[in-house]
Amino acid sequence: MSDEKPCRRCLLSQMDQGRYEEVILRAVSAISEKDRSGEKICHERLQMCQSCDNLISGTCLACGCYVEIRAAMKKGRCPEKKW
Ligand code: SF4
Repeated sequence: MSDEKPCRRCLLSQMDQGRYEEVILRAVSAISEKDRSGEKICHERLQMCQSCDNLISGTCLACGCYVEIRAAMKKGRCPEKKW
């Protein structure tokens, strides 16, 4: 059993680059260009996630998603309506 504590306020990109590339970049690259939110909007959304108590280890506790994937989608919505 790992005694590593989950990282609150961390995105997967800040914790585990290998897993980030494997999971997040792979999923985001599968989103068509027209369905992506764009870099600026995605960044703003993720800043809100990083100040949210629901974020833990890159995952939203309110919906269970990886926020970096949800934020990259144009139709992605915050379950708590923060963005
Ligand atoms: S998607 Fe919304 S509820 Fe979830 S971590 Fe981000 S801001 Fe918080």
